[in-house]
Amino acid sequence: MTRRRESASVEIFPKQNMASKYAEVINKLRTTFKHGITKSLEYRKQQLKALYRLCKDNEEVLVRAMKEDLNKPKFESVVCEIEFIRNDIRGMLINLEKWASPEYTSKHVVLMFDSTFIHREPFGLVLIIGAWNYPLQLTLSPLVGAIAAGNVAVIKPSELSPATARVLEDLLPLYLDQNSYALINGGVPETTELLKEQYDYIFYTGCPSVGKIIRNAANKHLTPITLELGGKSPLYLDKRVNIEIACRRILWGKFINAGQTCVAPDYILCSEETQEEFIHMASKILSEFFGENPQNSSDLARIVNKKHFQRICNLITNSTVVVGGDFVEEECYISPTILKDVKISDPVMEEEIFGPVLPIVPVKDVDEAISIINSKERPLSLYLFSTKDEVIKKFLNSTSSGSFCVNDTVVHLSVDTLPFGGIGNSGMGRYHGKYSFDTFSHLKAVLKRNFNPVLEQLGSLRYPPYTDQKMNKLMMLLKKRRNPFPYGTPYVIVFVLGIITAVVIRFILIASGGIKYLPYPFH
Ligand code: NAD
Repeated sequence: MTRRRESASVEIFPKQNMASKYAEVINKLRTTFKHGITKSLEYRKQQLKALYRLCKDNEEVLVRAMKEDLNKPKFESVVCEIEFIRNDIRGMLINLEKWASPEYTSKHVVLMFDSTFIHREPFGLVLIIGAWNYPLQLTLSPLVGAIAAGNVAVIKPSELSPATARVLEDLLPLYLDQNSYALINGGVPETTELLKEQYDYIFYTGCPSVGKIIRNAANKHLTPITLELGGKSPLYLDKRVNIEIACRRILWGKFINAGQTCVAPDYILCSEETQEEFIHMASKILSEFFGENPQNSSDLARIVNKKHFQRICNLITNSTVVVGGDFVEEECYISPTILKDVKISDPVMEEEIFGPVLPIVPVKDVDEAISIINSKERPLSLYLFSTKDEVIKKFLNSTSSGSFCVNDTVVHLSVDTLPFGGIGNSGMGRYHGKYSFDTFSHLKAVLKRNFNPVLEQLGSLRYPPYTDQKMNKLMMLLKKRRNPFPYGTPYVIVFVLGIITAVVIRFILIASGGIKYLPYPFH
């Protein structure tokens, strides 16, 4: 196996002049933004294409770096990180013109001949702080949104995935405009120093406790933020689903990246009977996935460092292990592990596991499962395996979570027409696809009026001297009304008007001797 480095922080600047260096970098980026360079759509496309090339030209180097950081299998590095970013960029390039165009809105009658629209403008200087578990995806995907929306950005990868952080530090300046985008590596002291500067937007991915630190720092300048956090994502497994397919989908979502996925199902709630069926099926499928000894499998990642390794091992102690439970400290290896008959009061049920350990908590029924879920912080994702519509509806309406995925795990985040983000302790804000573009854009409301004297007459009701009569008329004009016309009415009207115009023109031509007869259907 590749030799792994402990979480050494990667520094560009010596500590003593860190603050002044950061201020210098930030000034440079602010100057670029002030000159409006990043606002041009052509420039944004050019930078996105350059980022795409970075991911294309350096696939091998990136795969190697993620192998060093997490023993991430090539398949996972390519599919979940490199190709994820390339696809993100493809989507942005396809839609950029459309998303950046003015979005016209409906308006009240007084503004009938004026225009109202939303103009998306970049915030300015953005700080992106990435996490280690998907070190490329979680650092570059927000950057794709920031570039597309026309911002300049400071990018801070996680120090716990130092190999990927170093590769990004080397590659980014070779592809992106250094006057607009600066990567700064480092750990807590560097991030703390960076957070002292003023930004126009902060995008953070990581744990909720650090999320609070980020929010406090942002408050100083009332900086808007997105917090992509984590927590325990529950899974309810109903009776009478196809247990083999369900089991495959659950185990894949749990053990991809050795369970170090923010939306990995954290624990299973199901009946005792389903628990037995699941365990029986799981041991079979796990040997299919990783062979008889998962330690020898090239498809299983490792725990990021010894601290996390120790934390996860402690969670297994005093639990009933029915599958796996093996660990090797030197390799930070923990085998895919399943715990049965777990109680809600057990230590493993306290905090997010973020490792390859899957506890099963037996429950009587759907109501008990819902009440357990609702007794905890609102999760980033909630999973339900059921074929019954009434159960699906019940979960949807009586639980709250960042996302809700029925009969699969994790894959919902690959759908970029869906917003990705948490609620409450699992985060605030959302991104992916158009949501990324909107996250990094200020939605400026625009009203453009004209000097039409008739409408000015209507609008003059607002001017003093005020009278009750003026007030009543104005209220009547502004009153919200349900649209009396069904959807599509304007198209029908235009179509009918088109036909009438054609008929009239023909009659005029016939009358003037231009044509001699009326073609079908008008004769
Ligand atoms: P981490 O240790 O890599 O920290 C994330 C970032 O925060 C790093 O860049 C780090 O330098 C910075 N940081 C850490 N401590 C700091 C401090 N005291 N002050 C300022 N900055 C600090 O990642 P982590 O927090 O271990 O990540 C794991 C957590 O992130 C889990 O809870 C997981 O669920 C969550 N997560 C969420 C998402 C999501 O998209 N919602 C994605 C991945 C991970």
